[in-house]
Amino acid sequence: MQYKLKNWQIVLLTLLVFIIISIFTFFLLKNNVKKLNLNNSSKIDISKIVTNFKENKKELNPLYESNNLKDIIILVYNEDSTYNSYLINKKTGETNTFLDYINNKDEFNNKLTELLNLKYPYFIVDALTNATQSYFVKDTEVTIYFSNYSIENYSEALSLTINYQEIKDYLKFTPNLTETYTNEDGFNYDQSKKTVAITFDDGPSRKYNPLILETLEKNKAHASFFMVGNMMASCESCVLNTYNSGNEIGSHTYNHLNIKTNSKTKVEESLTKTNDIYHKITGDDIKLLRPPYGSYNKNNLTNINLPFILWNLDTEDWRYRDVSHITEYIKNNVSDGSIILMHELYETSYEALEEILPWLYLNGYQVVSVSELASLKNRTLEVGSAYRSLK
Ligand SMILES: [Zn+2]
Repeated sequence: MQYKLKNWQIVLLTLLVFIIISIFTFFLLKNNVKKLNLNNSSKIDISKIVTNFKENKKELNPLYESNNLKDIIILVYNEDSTYNSYLINKKTGETNTFLDYINNKDEFNNKLTELLNLKYPYFIVDALTNATQSYFVKDTEVTIYFSNYSIENYSEALSLTINYQEIKDYLKFTPNLTETYTNEDGFNYDQSKKTVAITFDDGPSRKYNPLILETLEKNKAHASFFMVGNMMASCESCVLNTYNSGNEIGSHTYNHLNIKTNSKTKVEESLTKTNDIYHKITGDDIKLLRPPYGSYNKNNLTNINLPFILWNLDTEDWRYRDVSHITEYIKNNVSDGSIILMHELYETSYEALEEILPWLYLNGYQVVSVSELASLKNRTLEVGSAYRSLK
């Protein structure tokens, strides 16, 4: 049986054939135009330039090589223990450095300082101001390696990786922009590093709380504050600022109560009252207890619904009120997992903190809150237990 095409089907078929021929012709022409353009305007043979460049480096092999960007070919070498990136212009064949492709060096440097401050404590950033920089350029980011800076007794390699999103306004080449990335952050603590917790008791102090928070912040450190309920009530902003700055607040009872020598009812009252104030200010509940005087018994451990946080390094800062006593004590006794006891109320404690945080950093320690220490050590703080350190 024969099938006969209807009129409308013939029209449709003709139209289809016409469209196919048109598309085919278009691409054929387009390709020819491209070829013509190349022959006319670009007299350079970029692949030959790249080959020559590599041959001139003789026995060196590039660590990284990319032809993915619109304007440049990237070649990165390790030469005399520093990374050198060569950016070869695809149109001119010219070879330049990364800095040659930065169009506003002042703004770029400001951005660099801003990002360094996210990653490193203030004194490291200061030391890097006049350091030598070398660049490892990639498609989506550049890593800056620093050398020739002087920080006494410190030999860690310092570097900063910057995603091009952060500096796209200053780049003279077109980078590959990634939608999601994270800047390097000094508060992202590292499980492989030595870690200690610093704790401040008996606050908040209207005078020293803001100073201590600022010192912690600029040193990329956190701490735990075991606050007294009635003092929380007298400086609510201290509580809120401590809470909002990534630091931790635990209970030190309402009136600095000795929980070992007081009745169960009195202890309960004191803890509930403290939590109520804390909850009113932060909307959160207290998760840790530091018994005043470090004094407690088995009944307390059974009755109180919070882990007890003690310490293994007592600076006796309240007794000596002496900066060098505090710092020397910590330097001589600190080890991985230590919980250090200090108090929020004394000028000398705050000054000792200013001094000891850089020392701890330079000696490979990160300083965190008690809960962060537990989490970095894969430990769970349990109700009914008391902790003196967290190894
Ligand atoms: Zn106390």
